[in-house]
Amino acid sequence: MRTILIGPPGAGKGTQAEMLTAKYGIPHISTGDMLRQAVKEATPMGLKAKTFMDSGALVPDDVMIGIVAERLARDDCANGFLLDGFPRTVAQAEALTDILSGLRISLNGVADIEVDDDILLRRLTGRRVCGECAATYHVANRPPAREGVCDKCGGELYQRPDDNAETAETRLKVYKEQTLPLIDYYSKQGLLRKIRGDTGLENVFREICGALE
Ligand code: ADP
Ligand code: ADP
Ligand code: ZN
Repeated sequence: MRTILIGPPGAGKGTQAEMLTAKYGIPHISTGDMLRQAVKEATPMGLKAKTFMDSGALVPDDVMIGIVAERLARDDCANGFLLDGFPRTVAQAEALTDILSGLRISLNGVADIEVDDDILLRRLTGRRVCGECAATYHVANRPPAREGVCDKCGGELYQRPDDNAETAETRLKVYKEQTLPLIDYYSKQGLLRKIRGDTGLENVFREICGALE
């Protein structure tokens, strides 16, 4: 299984990716998680990326393409991978096409998870993330068994600095301007599978599995 999850911030990409990678035994490549790890470790890339992330803007293409090219070349991607949050611009999608053809592999499909803005904003502002393992929760839709504590690893949950209402709105705008054109890019290649993301977690999961298998 070689696939990409596309969708606006809050569509459920990370949540579905956790379920899909468990089912298919493939690595979950989340560029957002990789960047947040770099910020936490205060690497030079993390320090540079933080300013863009905190304002809701995209991190420059050359940085992102470099990270993903390096990640996809690792051994654990040989039998498949799930990309979550990359590509986000047409330049990134074109670079990915080149990277994959260099590795002589092709995609099974691209799942585009669609959800209305009002629901997205409620999901983003109520999202909580584990600081240790990056598992994702929601204060109302998917609360942990113990408030503030990760069910999976016992780590402390936090609210991402970009999950405030104002930055969330900016991210939705950035998505429409810079990422929506990808729908057309993958649709022209016959790879796009549209998924309704506003039903329950299990429902969305079944739809994605059905569309990609
Ligand atoms: P969400 O899951 O809410 O859509 P992510 O965790 O994927 O957010 O990304 C968080 C932030 O990291 C983005 O707002 C952006 O600043 C940066 N980022 C992640 N992936 C990319 C990418 N492919 N290109 C540019 N910036 C990215
Ligand atoms: P993305 O990675 O696309 O930004 P997430 O997977 O982090 O999105 O989900 C955003 C928020 O919405 C999280 O708090 C998550 O628990 C919640 N969520 C995800 N999928 C659903 C769903 N189908 N129904 C209700 N809430 C959901
Ligand atoms: Zn955890």
